[in-house]
Amino acid sequence: MKKIILSSFLFVTVGFIVSAAEIVINGNDTMQFDVKAFDVKAGEKVSLTLKNSGKLPKIAMGHNIVLLKKGVTAIGFGQKALGAGANATNPLPDSVKADAIAWSKLLGPGESDTVSFTAPKEPGIYEYVCTFPGHFAMMRGTMTVK
Ligand code: ZN
Repeated sequence: MKKIILSSFLFVTVGFIVSAAEIVINGNDTMQFDVKAFDVKAGEKVSLTLKNSGKLPKIAMGHNIVLLKKGVTAIGFGQKALGAGANATNPLPDSVKADAIAWSKLLGPGESDTVSFTAPKEPGIYEYVCTFPGHFAMMRGTMTVK
């Protein structure tokens, strides 16, 4: 009896927690994210996982994911990161992180990384990109905050 009461209490409690989104994106050897757009609700907790599903060595085909602040474009940011010294072992220089909301580690084949953040309160479109040199033109997508 005690157990049943406890379970239903937990169930009700969970219902009050702000909604959360879990997004999983794969990056592969052809420089593609398999998810090019996803939606979240303003202010909700987001758990974003990037998996590198490729087989090529990290130094040749590493991937990361960088979620950008509103108004920052994937292409513009990719160029800025390169200009700031982005390379195959450090694709996200510290000096450009101010333009980003969240970012993963650089991943080699078979690796994955999960980053958690709170979705912006301001609705709109936020771009994301892989900043491994040469990838930003192909590996990008949009998060829509509703
Ligand atoms: Zn990449």
